[in-house]
Amino acid sequence: MEISTLKLAGLSLVGDRDQADESSAAFHAVNPANGTELEPAFHCATSDDIDRAANLAADAFPVLSSLSGRNRAQLLRRIADGLTNEGDVILERAHLEAGLALLRLQNELVRTVGQLKLFAEVLEEGSWVNARIDEGDPERKPFPRPDIRSMLRPLGPVAVFGASNFPLAFSAAGGDTASALAAGNPVIVKAHPAHPGTSELVGKVVQKAVRESRLPSGVFALLFDSGIEVGTSLVQHPAVKAIAFTGSANGGQALMRLAADRPEPIPCYAEMGSTNPLFILPGAMRERSAQLAKGVQASFTMGSGQFCTKPGLVFVPLNEGAEFVQSLRNGVGALEEYGMLTHGIATRYNQAIQERLKQGQAELIAGGPKASKAGAAGSATVFGISLSDFLDHPELGEEVFGPTTLLVRYDEDSDLLALARRMHGHLTATVHGTTEDLVRAHELIRVLERKVGRIVFNGFPTGVEVNHAMVHGGPFPATSDGRSTSVGSQAILRLVRPICYQDFPDTSLPPELQATNPLGIMRMVNGTLTRG
Ligand code: NAP
Repeated sequence: MEISTLKLAGLSLVGDRDQADESSAAFHAVNPANGTELEPAFHCATSDDIDRAANLAADAFPVLSSLSGRNRAQLLRRIADGLTNEGDVILERAHLEAGLALLRLQNELVRTVGQLKLFAEVLEEGSWVNARIDEGDPERKPFPRPDIRSMLRPLGPVAVFGASNFPLAFSAAGGDTASALAAGNPVIVKAHPAHPGTSELVGKVVQKAVRESRLPSGVFALLFDSGIEVGTSLVQHPAVKAIAFTGSANGGQALMRLAADRPEPIPCYAEMGSTNPLFILPGAMRERSAQLAKGVQASFTMGSGQFCTKPGLVFVPLNEGAEFVQSLRNGVGALEEYGMLTHGIATRYNQAIQERLKQGQAELIAGGPKASKAGAAGSATVFGISLSDFLDHPELGEEVFGPTTLLVRYDEDSDLLALARRMHGHLTATVHGTTEDLVRAHELIRVLERKVGRIVFNGFPTGVEVNHAMVHGGPFPATSDGRSTSVGSQAILRLVRPICYQDFPDTSLPPELQATNPLGIMRMVNGTLTRG
């Protein structure tokens, strides 16, 4: 087995060498399990670092974007192999910084490697560019028809912001980085201050893959900061052409505004928080209430409730729900406190629970504050409320990041329909029902289609598959643009734009659009899909 040469320096990764400006402000990662500071200190990127990273990325763009799909796939496979080879070192640091169990992190690493390879496959197959050809007709009367050929091309340097709760899969080499590089865009990552060491190790793996692929160093950079200054300047830099963000609603909406207020506004794909309503229909509740209680408990406490897909709202039929509520009360009451990702997240979670208790609009059903164990921690908590009171206090439907959920008791199926019509956008909605329930809920499903990116039937929303069909998105405020997904191969479509070539000689066209179809990809030729 190869011995890892990865070492932490605590310096932003810009260009071929680590930046040597050690005079800038510094911060430490903190082990959330015991509050100790971890070495080394991480130096915040300076404005020179930001400028250099953005300009190098702009210089690297023509090279990366004109690389063949196969060569870009090779870069992604090198990153994937590097992450696998350095897995032990990366996992050890992620465990210290995020306090997540090693098994969970191992799975996350497999997922991260898997999504890089998925994009590599997409590039090797090649048809993702949506090549369209409408052949010209010089004989058309009264005017000749021009030859028009179009395909998707990359946007330019992308600034990537990862979330604290996925130190690998939504971070330095996570889905946003993978999809941006796959499309042909250089990437500048603003490292999350909750896991800077993990980000640096992963960033070094990416840098090595870039070097081995003989690509310019500006293809990838990683910048440190403990606050929002670096991220703000990065979004405002004229060389940056798109933003891919995963994180809180506050952070995402701030970046959306910054991106829109630039002299040259740029797209900002922000995947933000969500409450993920889960509807239990009466037939399902009559059939399997204890099983449903177990499933809901496992889903809202998974990862200490720190998932953007956590079901934070559960709609329970008033007349059928007693056994379900009792099972949940018993199950949740017996739970130990959960470790959380950071002290800040734990504090915000515990404050939100105290606030909910104090305001008294929702009753405490199970769990609740416990004598705190050392470190960042929070207890599982279930609240309950009637549908009419919930409608009077819609703020109770906002995301509380951590292991809590709100049971909303409804009377009639028609109440659910009215509620769903008033809902804003979420990442997911879940419906538990029998076949008869589902027939009766036909209209509810039609409404949910307009409100979320993924509708789950008789399952749970936590756990997002990475594949070609997945949609991890949803209308605002779940994301900044409900036409997109940040997970799965369709995520590449966020970071490209269509361009068409009119009346170009064949040899000057990209191979994807040449007459003989040298790459053998699927194209639309004169309105018909063909590999011909
Ligand atoms: P966060 O606090 O918003 O941080 C995300 C990143 O954005 C960090 O690097 C942060 O830097 C930066 N940032 C935040 N506000 C900023 C601003 N105003 N200007 C510039 N940069 C800013 O999110 P988090 O606490 O890490 O993650 C938890 C949230 O993410 C939850 O709400 C969860 O539901 C959501 N999430 C969503 C998805 C999804 O796919 N939709 C997936 C995972 C998590 P600083 O920390 O330095 O401020």
